[in-house]
Amino acid sequence: MNIHARIANARRDFLHKLSHRIVQDFDYIAVGNVNAAGLARTSMAKSVLDAGWSSFRTMLAYKAIAHGAWYEEVDERFTTQVCSSCGTMPPERPKGIADLGIRQWVCSRCGAVHDRDVNAALNILARSGHRSPAEGIPSL
Ligand SMILES: [Zn+2]
Repeated sequence: MNIHARIANARRDFLHKLSHRIVQDFDYIAVGNVNAAGLARTSMAKSVLDAGWSSFRTMLAYKAIAHGAWYEEVDERFTTQVCSSCGTMPPERPKGIADLGIRQWVCSRCGAVHDRDVNAALNILARSGHRSPAEGIPSL
């Protein structure tokens, strides 16, 4: 087995274990519908394809069904830019791929301090059918 095949196998194994753990721990899973094929045509191509995002979503979906968990894909446009506290897009915010390096930001409208990923997750959950972000992400 060559090195590339070994890395691919290790990544697939990791994604299988992670998706298994998620469907065991949570009965409601909302995922952003990021278009990996679209992003793959941008300068982000390598990271998007390396992340194995599409296959991870597929694993999550079928394992959720097998475990009786709810799986939902949600439109995630602007979920990193909308403030999950006040629901607006403040003038000062990380903007898309260009500002991927910004991990924390403060909403200039309401003053909420956000971790970029947690804020996006709260917005994705709020757009899902679950509608209960307060109890939705207990382990974060
Ligand atoms: Zn705000």
